[in-house]
Amino acid sequence: MGILNMADMNKALLLKWLWCWIDNPSVLWGPLARERYNCGLFGRALFPQHARSLSGIWKGIMGGLEDFVQATRWVIGTGDRVSFWSDLWTGNRPLGERYAAIFRIAVNTDAPVSSFWRRRGGDGYWEVLVRRNLNDHEVDGYLQLLEELHGVRVVEDRLDQIIWKPKPAEGFSVKGGYDWVRRHRVVESWMARKHKEVWGCKIPLKIKAFMWLVYQEKILTKSYISKWVPDIEKRCVLCGAEDETVTHLFIACPMVKQVWRWMSMAGGLGDSFTNLESLWQSGKSLRNPVDRSVRAKVSQILIPAVVWSTWLIRNHVVFRGSIPYAENIWESVIRMVSDWGVFCVGATSVRLIDGVLDVRE
Ligand SMILES: [Zn+2]
Repeated sequence: MGILNMADMNKALLLKWLWCWIDNPSVLWGPLARERYNCGLFGRALFPQHARSLSGIWKGIMGGLEDFVQATRWVIGTGDRVSFWSDLWTGNRPLGERYAAIFRIAVNTDAPVSSFWRRRGGDGYWEVLVRRNLNDHEVDGYLQLLEELHGVRVVEDRLDQIIWKPKPAEGFSVKGGYDWVRRHRVVESWMARKHKEVWGCKIPLKIKAFMWLVYQEKILTKSYISKWVPDIEKRCVLCGAEDETVTHLFIACPMVKQVWRWMSMAGGLGDSFTNLESLWQSGKSLRNPVDRSVRAKVSQILIPAVVWSTWLIRNHVVFRGSIPYAENIWESVIRMVSDWGVFCVGATSVRLIDGVLDVRE
């Protein structure tokens, strides 16, 4: 371990307390402690959170809760201890965050997983009730949610189990907790910088939100979905040759590569990038003789235009069965760039955007 960072070690020890509290509910602390601290039966309520009744030491331990929540996930057994919308038990983030539109109109927003499961024969099915009819734009999300749930089942004779994400098989150790805290600190600062860049883009808010998910590799690509729906077809629908990951779909796929080539001809970007980070960096060194401050702003329009257009065309193929062409992606890019041009001020950027518009006339 080298020289210990005591602040990080302290955090790792807090994680250990929280881990024991959840992992060993009957043995270590007993129901008495739970009753004393007014703990609930599922979700965050499992933890002693009511400040007035907490002793000093527990207040300290609860300071590690956010780290704990980020480093763990649930494997569903009976589904009694896990909050359906707020806990992490399927996918990479809680359902309530990923299906926010459905969550807002759901009947049961604070209930354990088990109360969404309907037993039938030896098996069962999921029932997610909403308070009103779904709008057109909510239907896709609702279907995606059901598709995701389709791969998970409640298991009647097994307790819900907490998993230490960095080492799922081995579980938590103080050393593992310490490593996680250290690594997480680095990732956090990278994400903070990226956050500033993405949310500072001169593009519509909806697209910023999408780009933010893309950089975290948290959009619903087939590879991403396959983590909890194991038998899903993972092939990229644009080329059919490789698995659909974020890097493949937006960078490596031959069809998208063609689009980047046109973008490069337009003087927009180089085409030597191999992942999202180097793509973003290449945006900062545009070949066009534009001054540096404008460069960053322009690439902040061009990159999202290609990524978002690719995603739209990809969805057309997946949900409507249309046939994809690089030309369709490019046409969409052109439309977006000219629409979003209004967000961008300065004669130079207008010229570059004109260049993009001209390249395939
Ligand atoms: Zn492909």
